[in-house]
Amino acid sequence: MVSYKELGLVNTKAMFAKAVNGGYAIPAFNFNNMEQLQAIIMSAAEQKSPVILQVSKGARNYANQTLLRYMAEGAVAYAKELGWEKPEIVLHLDHGDSFELCKSCVDTGFSSVMIDASHLPYEENIALTKKVVEYAHAHDVTVEAELGVLAGVEDEVSSAVSHYTKPEEVVDFATRTGCDSLAISIGTSHGAYKFTPAQCTRDPKTGKLVPPPLAFDVLAAIEEQLPGFPIVLHGSSSVPQEYVDIINANGGKLPDAVGIPEEQLAQASKSAVCKINIDSDSRLALTAAVRQVLNQKPAEFDPRKYLGPARDEMVKLYTHKIQVLGSAGKSE
Ligand SMILES: [Zn+2]
Repeated sequence: MVSYKELGLVNTKAMFAKAVNGGYAIPAFNFNNMEQLQAIIMSAAEQKSPVILQVSKGARNYANQTLLRYMAEGAVAYAKELGWEKPEIVLHLDHGDSFELCKSCVDTGFSSVMIDASHLPYEENIALTKKVVEYAHAHDVTVEAELGVLAGVEDEVSSAVSHYTKPEEVVDFATRTGCDSLAISIGTSHGAYKFTPAQCTRDPKTGKLVPPPLAFDVLAAIEEQLPGFPIVLHGSSSVPQEYVDIINANGGKLPDAVGIPEEQLAQASKSAVCKINIDSDSRLALTAAVRQVLNQKPAEFDPRKYLGPARDEMVKLYTHKIQVLGSAGKSE
């Protein structure tokens, strides 16, 4: 049993309260490898932004849970080395799908877990979420739950269609489960293909796809039901066209990839939305840089020569995201 407190991590409680009151959101960046972790910590430390290191079940298996624990501990030490005196870093399980997985994460140094039982019938979602909350809270670990279903594909999580969160359910759900934050569905979506071309309109000038707007009316109705309660948005990558273009120009094939416009994320950040999940954008930045280097320098085989530029590109991306969400300078 390892407590996250021994690793220097924090849970989301104080961080979310400050973010909701302050009208900004904390970035939750998924990571799978050292370069992503380095880039996240460099950007957060440079801008003194609280940050959530997010790991899916698949990423935890990929990285190895023991190594992961030391990576998180190392991230805190590295942040201090970079001059961030009081790093506010959360290690969060993204889309936990069982009590056993959530418990295992609590027991191995995670400071926050998500139990995603949103695909289950309502009462079963409540029962499973409540069970996780009881265990996690006994260890001062915070819990994110989900109501509503997002479309798209993310590791093991996938759904063909989205179902918006029903505002009339949120009070009952939050009260009976005791969860600390709630992931909602208002039109964001997992992956790099958030919308089909048929769901979008085309900008007549550029020919680019313009996605349907997020359901801010549903968000407002949820906020009205649960004033000040921390809300989470999943699937919120913006899928920068420049990365898609670089990938496609260097042997890749990502036709019509489309994400959430950043103006809408900035707008959401000002509301009770206090955690915004970004995964695909980092994958795109990394892949674009690697493809470009390998295409331009076919003789290159030193991983540092293509993963290094990929890391630089991710630092730029994370730094920009922190600006969009407004979390820069919110930590000491
Ligand atoms: Zn998600």
